[in-house]
Amino acid sequence: MRFEIITIFPEFFTSIFENGILRRALAEGLVSVGVHDLRAFTHDRHRTVDDRPFGGGEGMVLKPEPLAEALASLGIEPKAQRLASNAAQAGPPQVVLLSAQGQPFTQAMARELAATERVVLICGRYEGVDERVNELYCDMELSIGDYVLSGGELAAAVVVDATMRLLPGVLGNEASGDFESFGVADAEIADAGDGVPRSQHGAGGLLDYPHYTRPAEFGGLRVPETLLNGDHAGIRRWRREQQLRKTLANRPDLLEGAALSKEDRKLLEAIRGEAE
Ligand code: SAH
Repeated sequence: MRFEIITIFPEFFTSIFENGILRRALAEGLVSVGVHDLRAFTHDRHRTVDDRPFGGGEGMVLKPEPLAEALASLGIEPKAQRLASNAAQAGPPQVVLLSAQGQPFTQAMARELAATERVVLICGRYEGVDERVNELYCDMELSIGDYVLSGGELAAAVVVDATMRLLPGVLGNEASGDFESFGVADAEIADAGDGVPRSQHGAGGLLDYPHYTRPAEFGGLRVPETLLNGDHAGIRRWRREQQLRKTLANRPDLLEGAALSKEDRKLLEAIRGEAE
C-alpha cells in the first residue's frame, strides 16, 4: 500500500517515519509513503500557496491551482475523469482531504483504507482549502476528532499510523488489531488452527481490557489473580468482563454498535446492577 501526502511542511513527517512500527514497515516495504511539497507546484517568486478568502473574514485559504498541479503530478485526475477511466480498473486511489468538517476517522475507516492500494492525503492549513479542490478531486473528507488543528499534517500522520498497522505482516499475529480496542468480533477472526486456546476475545467494537506485566505487585496493588494462574478460559472471561466494564465507564456509546453475546449481555446487566 502507498500513501501520498501533499503538504506545505514536508519536514513535519521526518521523525514520524523514523520510529517504531512505521519505520520497520517502511524498511520492509510493507508500506510506502511519498511526501510532496505543495510549494514545488507554485510558479511565482514567493512560492505562494494561499490567498485571501472571497467574501472577507479571517485568515487565508489554500489556493486550488498548486493542489491541482500536485495531484496531476501524481497522476490524479479530477473525480469525473477518474471514475470514467477507472471504471474497469480495480482499486482506484482514494483522495482524502483532512478537514475538521470531515466524517469521523474511525478504526472501521482505517480497515477500509488498509484495503486500498493508494491513498492520497491532502493537508490543509490556515482557514482550510478552496472548496473546489474537495468538489473536483476528493473522495472523502476525514476528521480525526471534534477539535480544530492548525494543519492537516498531524491528522494525516494519524491516518497513516492507524491504517498501516492493520496491513498484513506489520503487527505480529498475537498483537493483531482484531484483539485491540475497536477490533472486530470473534465470528470475523480466522481460527489460528494451532489448537492453542485463545486467552482473549475479538473486541467486537469494545475497548481493550487492562494489561499488566511484572512485577506481580506494584505500589501495593497486586495483578488480578486470574491472570497469574494460566487458565486460558478463565483469563478470556476475565478480560471480556474488563472490556465491558471499561467501555461502560468510558465509552457507553460504543455498546450500542458492539457485537455482544448472550453472556456479554448478562455480564453487562450484572455490572450495571452493581452501580445501583
Ligand atoms: N476553518 C476550518 C479549520 C481550518 S484548520 C474549520 O473551522 O473547520 C486548518 C487545517 O487543519 C484544515 O484545513 C485541515 O486540513 C486541518 N484540520 C483541522 N482540524 C482537523 C481535524 N479535526 N481533522 C482533520 N484535519 C483537521
